[in-house]
Amino acid sequence: MSFIQLENLTKYFNGSADPAVASLNLTIQKGEIITLLGPSGCGKTTTLRMIAGFEHPNKGTIHIDGKEVYNEAQSLPPEKRGIGMVFQDYALFPHMTIMKNVMFGLGKWSARDKKQRAKEVLELVGLEGYANRYPTQLSGGQQQRVALARALAPKPHVVLMDEPFSNLDAGLREKMRFDVTNILRKANTTAIIVTHDQKDAFAVSDRVVVMKDGIIQQIASPREMYRCPKNCFVAQFVGKTNLLTGIMDDDKMNIHTHIGKVTLPEQWKERLETVKLSIRPEGCHLTEKGAYCGVVERVTYGGEYQELYVRLHNEPHLSKEPMLIYAPIEQDVEVGTIVSFNIKPELVALVE
Ligand code: ATP
Repeated sequence: MSFIQLENLTKYFNGSADPAVASLNLTIQKGEIITLLGPSGCGKTTTLRMIAGFEHPNKGTIHIDGKEVYNEAQSLPPEKRGIGMVFQDYALFPHMTIMKNVMFGLGKWSARDKKQRAKEVLELVGLEGYANRYPTQLSGGQQQRVALARALAPKPHVVLMDEPFSNLDAGLREKMRFDVTNILRKANTTAIIVTHDQKDAFAVSDRVVVMKDGIIQQIASPREMYRCPKNCFVAQFVGKTNLLTGIMDDDKMNIHTHIGKVTLPEQWKERLETVKLSIRPEGCHLTEKGAYCGVVERVTYGGEYQELYVRLHNEPHLSKEPMLIYAPIEQDVEVGTIVSFNIKPELVALVE
């Protein structure tokens, strides 16, 4: 059995005909960092709260470290599940020192052991010099590390984090993604993180679980999810993409679309009639005498690259979206420039 196992987890809130979470199945290995990713209302927080024991599922079972902590007949209370929780607003006690905040979760430990363990985890999060300060005397990033230290102190089976980066500004957010992952790895802790931000999810996790309307859409490593999104929703939710429909050739490798022939990275198992394609914008690279040619309709400066919206010359369907292409910033392009490009098959995927 896996370290954490969620089977058929289903939750209906009072009065709602649609489930907030529907027959969710997920297994997590010890030491894995998993993120639940999806738009607002997709059921991420409800899933996390069911694992924590704050919310009762209507159906399903939850196992943590081999122990059944929930089934329809019985439910272990949150404090007996061996979980550490980090809340979005950190939930530190303002009237307690950092040391006391961290010791708080250690309940029945002896005073000496509590102090020793609090010192250990404060060192782990790099805040050993801050033990006697109060939460308001720390920056947002430091407060978050205290919240993580407090969650880790009782050596939980799993740490659950709800939107841990959403209160941080862009620069600190990037640093904290790195710090939090490092701390979790050093502590060798299994973690489940909820976020609606693709960059958070990709930066911190071994595997990402994308959810929509209470249903898991795909479970994959960040790289696999980006390169091989399972369906149109995932392709559009993780990064930008061009979605096209086409007809598959007999060779099962080439798709005839409104922009011309597009080659898949490898031969498809079976021949499908009509297919949908996701082509990542960085899969289209400008080159002289490329296979595709069009006129730039819009340019957005993206910092590291320029986003070009290109209307293909051979495109009879003006109702279609222009192709989104990333071009290097040194490239001289403006609205009206005629560009030619090729498509890298590795960044083309068939989607449902
Ligand atoms: P967000 O990112 O906005 O927090 P989420 O993906 O975490 O969204 P949930 O909070 O799990 O989504 O909500 C899933 C669905 O369940 C939503 O339709 C929401 O309105 C509903 N819901 C959540 N909590 C309750 C509640 N206590 N009572 C009734 N409906 C609820």
